[in-house]
Amino acid sequence: MICSNKECAIEFEPKTHNQKYHNDECCRVATNRRIMEKYYEKKAIRQGAARGCKKCGHQLSRYNDTSLCASCQKKTDMSKRSNILDRINEIS
Ligand SMILES: [Zn+2]
Ligand SMILES: [Zn+2]
Repeated sequence: MICSNKECAIEFEPKTHNQKYHNDECCRVATNRRIMEKYYEKKAIRQGAARGCKKCGHQLSRYNDTSLCASCQKKTDMSKRSNILDRINEIS
């Protein structure tokens, strides 16, 4: 196993099957970094940093905390619904 802390990346013998970090300190550091990244991402959104829709690239409203614009969300919803309808039609 290689420690999941990128700054450490030391090779170690895992004691449990789900051990990702070579020691508690690396686990703590990596977890803290993840929390801080999330925090700054949310802060940037609140401060109105421009984000684009993942599908069409349309600029997202700062009140939209998803990665899709409203019209792409609607389209995704509709395609989901039509898939269900297609399946119902196949059965009947
Ligand atoms: Zn480590
Ligand atoms: Zn979009």
